[in-house]
Amino acid sequence: MNAPLTTTGRYFDGRSARAHPVRLRLGERLEIAGEAVRLDWSLLDLRAAETAPPLARIGHAEHPGSVEFEDAAFAEALAARCPDLNRREGGGGLTRLVLWSIAAGVSVVLTALYGVPAAANLLAPLVPPSVEARLGQAIETQVVGLLGDPPLCAAPEGRAVLDRLVGRLSQTMALSPPPQVSVRRHATANALALPGGRIVVLSDIIAKSRSADEFAGILAHEFGHVAARDSIRAVIRAGGTSFLLSLVLGDLTGSTVLVAVGQGAIAAGYSREAERAADRAAVTGVDRAGGDGRALAAILERITETHDETPGGLTGFLRSHPYTAERAAAIRAMPGERTDGASLLSEADWRTLRAICGTKDEKAD
Ligand SMILES: [Zn+2]
Repeated sequence: MNAPLTTTGRYFDGRSARAHPVRLRLGERLEIAGEAVRLDWSLLDLRAAETAPPLARIGHAEHPGSVEFEDAAFAEALAARCPDLNRREGGGGLTRLVLWSIAAGVSVVLTALYGVPAAANLLAPLVPPSVEARLGQAIETQVVGLLGDPPLCAAPEGRAVLDRLVGRLSQTMALSPPPQVSVRRHATANALALPGGRIVVLSDIIAKSRSADEFAGILAHEFGHVAARDSIRAVIRAGGTSFLLSLVLGDLTGSTVLVAVGQGAIAAGYSREAERAADRAAVTGVDRAGGDGRALAAILERITETHDETPGGLTGFLRSHPYTAERAAAIRAMPGERTDGASLLSEADWRTLRAICGTKDEKAD
């Protein structure tokens, strides 16, 4: 009675809008096979998007890809075999749908009256954490893809020091839960806050930091963006009402909207005010954690000097932290809570953290 069923459909990888023709086979698992696609999804992980039959769109709980087909019998068999197919993370399906319908309606009106930025500010606090978490995960996958899939840096000793630093800054900056920070080996000196409290640190910013306090300043600056929910605001701004409508339709993954939103959010960067606010939060946070918050000014200037060496394609990414000279001056002008020259990490811990990519300690010049 559970004989394998097959049908044909289209696979979307969640990064590009391209549809890949695939064959679907439903047995103990859902197998998706095409020219460049070979996936084997557990039935427990399948999630259906809300679509108008006969179109069915099936995503994966932990994967940005999705598959579409028009085969009522296949859809029925999937529904019978997949216990969580119609599960909505966070529950409260109908309430959420109603709220989002209202939000989308309101956003259309607000956008017309005040423009997208104001609408984004008003709507960001309404995004449920479960939706933001899922969005953050999808955008991180996409950002990492855009950067050419740089490897994760997770040498255990370095990771332990980083976790301690993250814990300490989360405390002084009152962030609970602490942001999820990942480090990737990449020759661009930058860090990026994504929705859902995710922060991607590119290893060159660690290499270019001349002290633990400089790096802590960069990290704390991203924490400032997380605290202010700047990234979800940027995503709403970039995606506008189409983003909200796609949320209402339950179509977050595998959609062309998400691709546009992710790229837009990276390219557009944050407002001058958002950058200043994140800097202020960072200086205070690092000071309270026992370091020198003003060290952030020096690293900001240093990474700007080297921007021109960056290969093409990443300029938009780099623009995510603009207005450097002005920011550095403002940071240096901030009243200090403490200036006794103590550092947030010991020299030994800082050396360990610098080796998080598994390489030899780079010259601290
Ligand atoms: Zn920033």
